[in-house]
Amino acid sequence: RAKQEGRQGYQFFTQEMQSRSVRNLQIVNALRQAQQLNQLQVYYQPQVSIADGQIIGAEALLRWWHPELGSVSPAEFIPIAEDSRLILSIGEWVIRQAVRQAKDWMKQGFAPLIMAVNLSAVQFRHHDLPALVSRILTEENLPPECLELELTEGVAMHNPQGAIAIMNNLHARGVRMSIDDFGTGYSSLSYLKKFKSYKLKIDQSFVRDINTDVEDKAIVSAIISLAKSLGLKTIAEGVETHDQLSFLKEQGCDEMQGYLISKPLPSDQFEALLNTYRSPSS
Ligand code: C2E
Ligand code: MG
Ligand code: MG
Ligand code: MG
Repeated sequence: RAKQEGRQGYQFFTQEMQSRSVRNLQIVNALRQAQQLNQLQVYYQPQVSIADGQIIGAEALLRWWHPELGSVSPAEFIPIAEDSRLILSIGEWVIRQAVRQAKDWMKQGFAPLIMAVNLSAVQFRHHDLPALVSRILTEENLPPECLELELTEGVAMHNPQGAIAIMNNLHARGVRMSIDDFGTGYSSLSYLKKFKSYKLKIDQSFVRDINTDVEDKAIVSAIISLAKSLGLKTIAEGVETHDQLSFLKEQGCDEMQGYLISKPLPSDQFEALLNTYRSPSS
């Protein structure tokens, strides 16, 4: 009986593996053409200062719509783009779009925004990244301090010595760095101190039940005091309710991002939001 179960288990495993790799293959093939076929779009989600409720930044988030696959989540296609190294050309395109958009909003006379762009592991470790970022900023004529690059805690801590060198290089070029999904990796505090980062992004998994779960409360307030003692800013991800916001405000969190303010939006809708925005705390 045990044998039979084992065999069935094995069969199930291979079938699941197979359909997953079929889907992955479909995605890689479709993704190869996505750029040329204009299927990719960058959305922007506002980042808001908790103290005064103003929109002070935007996170660029990639969207992909394919005629047969429909809308595919970046959580699914980014890892596949990483494995196939397609992320290098796609990622370069995202940085270019986001920087160009930030410049456009600046030219239109909106209050200066900091544009945050996600970096994947492959992009971050690619030898050309710092020069590429400088080149794009120069070509699009955007001051480097208007760009912030988000690196997940997991990627930063995977090889902390290497990460420090790359962050120093980007920092020297005037670009800001933030540590994304903070709290989900295993940070060594001694490295965290050496990272040239500016901001910790508190992962949304801790924010979700912040008003009811005592452990999440404790984790979030610990992250905020850790950041304060290291001279870093904090931003909470995934803020959806006023109760979450009140707790974060009470704890001294600097910024927030989430559906309470807005979902990620196409650039024209983000622009409309900039024109009509009223902060939720006023
Ligand atoms: P992330 O950088 O941690 O982005 C935050 C995710 O949370 C986004 O999902 C965003 O849409 C979602 N979110 C924002 N506010 C709320 C909220 O109030 N509630 C909930 N439930 N979710 C919220 P999205 O856009 O699906 O992106 C998922 C991940 O894919 C990102 O996580 C990032 O790691 C990756 N990604 C997205 N765009 C890019 C890109 O251009 N380059 C790279 N390398 N990765 C990207
Ligand atoms: Mg991010
Ligand atoms: Mg995140
Ligand atoms: Mg994430």
